[in-house]
Amino acid sequence: MAKRLTQPADDEKTQFPWHAEDVEAVLRELDTRREGLSDAEAARRLEQHGPNRLRPRSRQGPFMRFLLQFHNVLIYVLLVAAVAALALGELLDAGVILGVVIINALIGFIQEGKAEKALEAIGKMLSLEATVLREGQRREIPAEELVPGDVVLLREGDKVPADLRLFSVRDLRIDEAMLTGESVPVEKQTNPVEAGTPVADRLGLAFSATLVTSGKGSGVVIATGDTTEIGRISELVTETPQITTPLIRQMTQFGHKLAIVVLVISVATFLLGWLWRGQAPIEMAMAAVALAVAAIPEGLPAIMTITLAIGVQRMARRNAIIRRLPAVDTLGAITVICSDKTGTLTRNEMTVTSIATPAGLCEVEGVGYDPEGRVLADGQPAQLDQRPDLALALRAGLLCNDARLVHEDDLWRPQGDPMEAALIVLARKAGLDPDSEHEAWPTLDTIPFESKHKFMATLHRRPGGGELIFVKGAPEQILENCRAVWSDEGADPAPLDRAQWEQQYEQLAASGQRVLAAACKPAPGRDKIEHGDIQDLLLLGLWGIIDPPRAEAIESVRQCHEAGIRAKMITGDHKLTALAIGHQLAIGDGQSALTGRELEQIDEARLGELVHEIDVYARVSPEHKLRLVQALQAHGDVVAMTGDGGNDAPALKRADIGVAMGLKGTEVAQEASEMVLADDNFASIAHAVEEGRTVYDNLRKAVLFILPTNGGEAMVIMLAIVLGLTMPLTPVQVLWINMITAVTLALALAFEPPEANVMRRPPREPRQPLLTRFFLWRILLVSLIMFAGTFGVFAWLTTGGAEIELARTAAVNTIVLLEIFYLFNTRFILESSLSLKGFLGSRAALIAIALVIVFQLLFTYLGLMQNLFSTRPLDLGHWLLIIPVAASVLPIVEFEKWLMRRHALNHPKRQVGSPKR
Ligand code: ATP
Repeated sequence: MAKRLTQPADDEKTQFPWHAEDVEAVLRELDTRREGLSDAEAARRLEQHGPNRLRPRSRQGPFMRFLLQFHNVLIYVLLVAAVAALALGELLDAGVILGVVIINALIGFIQEGKAEKALEAIGKMLSLEATVLREGQRREIPAEELVPGDVVLLREGDKVPADLRLFSVRDLRIDEAMLTGESVPVEKQTNPVEAGTPVADRLGLAFSATLVTSGKGSGVVIATGDTTEIGRISELVTETPQITTPLIRQMTQFGHKLAIVVLVISVATFLLGWLWRGQAPIEMAMAAVALAVAAIPEGLPAIMTITLAIGVQRMARRNAIIRRLPAVDTLGAITVICSDKTGTLTRNEMTVTSIATPAGLCEVEGVGYDPEGRVLADGQPAQLDQRPDLALALRAGLLCNDARLVHEDDLWRPQGDPMEAALIVLARKAGLDPDSEHEAWPTLDTIPFESKHKFMATLHRRPGGGELIFVKGAPEQILENCRAVWSDEGADPAPLDRAQWEQQYEQLAASGQRVLAAACKPAPGRDKIEHGDIQDLLLLGLWGIIDPPRAEAIESVRQCHEAGIRAKMITGDHKLTALAIGHQLAIGDGQSALTGRELEQIDEARLGELVHEIDVYARVSPEHKLRLVQALQAHGDVVAMTGDGGNDAPALKRADIGVAMGLKGTEVAQEASEMVLADDNFASIAHAVEEGRTVYDNLRKAVLFILPTNGGEAMVIMLAIVLGLTMPLTPVQVLWINMITAVTLALALAFEPPEANVMRRPPREPRQPLLTRFFLWRILLVSLIMFAGTFGVFAWLTTGGAEIELARTAAVNTIVLLEIFYLFNTRFILESSLSLKGFLGSRAALIAIALVIVFQLLFTYLGLMQNLFSTRPLDLGHWLLIIPVAASVLPIVEFEKWLMRRHALNHPKRQVGSPKR
């Protein structure tokens, strides 16, 4: 791939050389302008070029997927058995075996397709957005609607939505690793490069699907969909996702090993019985096939896949979108959640409530984005013409600003950063009109906000002439770079009393307000600004901004604590603000917090200790997040970490579960994450943990349910072989039980809701295998019950002189009824099922049971089925024997659960990996 990209593209000669022509020529070629296309033109081009998405290529066709259903050990055994039956002239048996195999493959095919569709739909929820200029206006549109000629704006954290010819850049760096393999981001520029320059060096182009790591820029779309560079090599990009997790792989591998052991035993049984015991080879062959079919749990992987898909769908409904399926396993093992503050724990609904200028403190009325309310100085509405200090500070907030405030359907809504929108609201409350201010103070240049620098600056031409820089940012940053306090025009700037301003700052922060400072600096004659200009500033004032905690986050933090999960707040905000908000959320003790700077000064060992004591981290930059994750993991914690910015990516990747924000998060962060929150809400993480634990439980329940049926049947057949008795179950009957009844019943477990205590128990030990000792014990116990019940009924009837077919029919019905009763047991692994909820609480279970009862009645009484499966009608007397025998499993397992619960109470062993508190 790299080789290809270092050479000119194949169709170079036929294509317009976008990289080698200057911008004007490119715009002419595309018949567009820097202000973008009109809506009508964009619609026309969309019609012409089609949507901007890659056509999936390497997906297997349906026929291949159907064939793949036959690719497993049991099916091979069955196909051999069918051929053998055919050779022996047992046409009916061969037909039944083939019929069951095909029905099973069909069901598998349909369900797998459904699971895949469900997951695909979830993938689509994360569709890419692009910022474009249409009709001269900035707009967010789905990236699929981009057309050649559209003008796209890029900023830090974006995924480039199409191939672009750039015409303006500001420190724009793009990570093109996925195209060129080059891991260092490329600095982009706008000049043409020589024709024929390799793709990797076309600095004036930005390529679809690459990631903006810093800066901003804009460009015009030159190619969309499959005609982009990435589109040409997209066979590599569009692989079908595999529906699996480590846990399911673990079970599948277990199944394979078991299958091999069973096959060896079956062949050995056949050989021993025939050669040593001198049994008829046909009979022994049937016994060996019956044994193999009985003991291999082939329905299990399919059930687990479906359980997983249903769980992931359920999470999506609760706003947690899983990007990588293995994360579902990990969710249940999480011991620490590190969360951002703004927007995740708080509402991200900002309101400026106070503004401190050199002339004094003003209060602001009103909450939210509705610009209703007054700005009060000493209790009186502030008059801007008498307060030039206030007017300039408000202007700084209004103009040094990338957000917009839109008024639609009588509702005021922020577009862009909510904090910046709050500054627009404030300016409006004081009587400034954004449009006329922007017109009177045109913006000449901007240094965009970056969390690394914690400020933003803009350069303006003043209405009376002369240029002025406005800066807003974290007060520490601003105060450090101020030389004086702004005073009226003409007057000398007043000296800066830093201690007094810091005190003011801390006072606001300690009440949980987020504080922002504003400053300015004359810059006569300038038309560009750089980072070096941000010094010798004149302080304009401080804004105090409230952003209340989300009510549901408070509840979720409590739930997490109960579930043995520690919540930590990691914020770029001031320590005192963080502590105050943390206190409201019950995160931390309200007193101890570490700042980014303090973090830098302590060594790994000390950090390892502190990280367990301290839950609030303030003024933290993205690099610190990475260190925190590593420190936590070094102590055995399983960490979920949230992030939204592009530079959060390393920490998100490193965390066991990286959690990106769906609303305000960048694509780069989403790309690095396992999970995306559709609503940016902390509560959704807690819900995902709950669902993750539930999926894990349900997978375990499926295993716990299916394996004893195999165990019981295998024991029945083994005993018959050892004792040289007639087989109590024929191979086709075993097939019926395993592939029709057990699978139908087990499917109901995929729909089990969370158990009552799911968020009241400690996290799962991550290395704990699926088949714990307790599980093996339970499987053995129930296998024995199934074996004893089935064999008992069969033996009772045959010794009573019943016909062998009748006794077999009774044996099959016994085992299926045992499954039905045991399904109630399995709905709760340890909790008692003996309640109304236990019996009637799951609609899926009741439907599955009703279905299986109908199946069994057909199996027993329908002439056709009697022919196919050699069954005989049972009478009431038989049922009166079978039902109590089958029902016995219910009280026995419930008694075992009771013993286990009592044992657990007497030996409360703390789980390894749960938080130390
Ligand atoms: P969290 O990490 O909880 O989301 P945060 O939003 O405060 O917190 P950053 O976005 O890294 O974290 O911001 C750090 C600081 O930079 C803020 O506390 C604020 O002082 C300042 N700041 C944030 N946004 C802007 C902006 N648009 N313009 C100027 N300064 C900003």
